Amino acid sequence: MRVLVVEDEHRMALHVARALEEDSFAVDVAYDGEQGLAYALAHDYDAIVLDLMLPKLDGMAVCRRLRDAGKRVPVLMLSARDLVEDRVGGLNAGADDYLVKPFAMQELMARLRALMRRQADDPRSTLKVADLELDPLTRRARRGTRQIILTAKEFAVLEYLMRRPSIVHTRTMIAEHVWNFVFDHASNVVDVYIKHLRDKIDDKQDQVRPSFIRSVRGAGYVLSDPNEDQA
Ligand code: CA
Repeated sequence: MRVLVVEDEHRMALHVARALEEDSFAVDVAYDGEQGLAYALAHDYDAIVLDLMLPKLDGMAVCRRLRDAGKRVPVLMLSARDLVEDRVGGLNAGADDYLVKPFAMQELMARLRALMRRQADDPRSTLKVADLELDPLTRRARRGTRQIILTAKEFAVLEYLMRRPSIVHTRTMIAEHVWNFVFDHASNVVDVYIKHLRDKIDDKQDQVRPSFIRSVRGAGYVLSDPNEDQA
């Protein structure tokens, strides 16, 4: 899941970005409204944390232009002021939620997760494909009764694939949702993570069933129920 943080106070921006990264999100940071709008239009973010008072273009204008451009990405607006006019203005501009500074980072994370769940096609919190289960809230994965211990990035790759099962995803699509702009598209890091996930998820004793994550030659990867006919 990839999140854009638009915030001109550098310390606050880094604080939020770090918390999100610790929770296995990929994060991009923009420091003014114009840059934020450009990033948000260029990529399909899973959520945007948008400060209200920004140089060049304020948060309401950014939000309005995003909605005008047809972007439905969940927006959590931040403000230093707790004024009814600001809240109403933000929500009218198309923000989905509003948080007043100072806030507890835990609250920001909880609200973001709630917004993304609401946005998802499947509102159930636990993702399930055959006996593979992943709980985005507790960050736990398991296969049947077997607990699977995943790193933050492995979790992020698996969550991305499980939210869109049985669909082929290119390496670029996976990378764009799990890593940020710093990601080197020429690297084979996606393949490396897929290999780690297969090692952890698949049953090594089972030589008959194919892997949960299959390679589609020349295209990318698809996660699906290995019991289903793959033909
Ligand atoms: Ca600000």
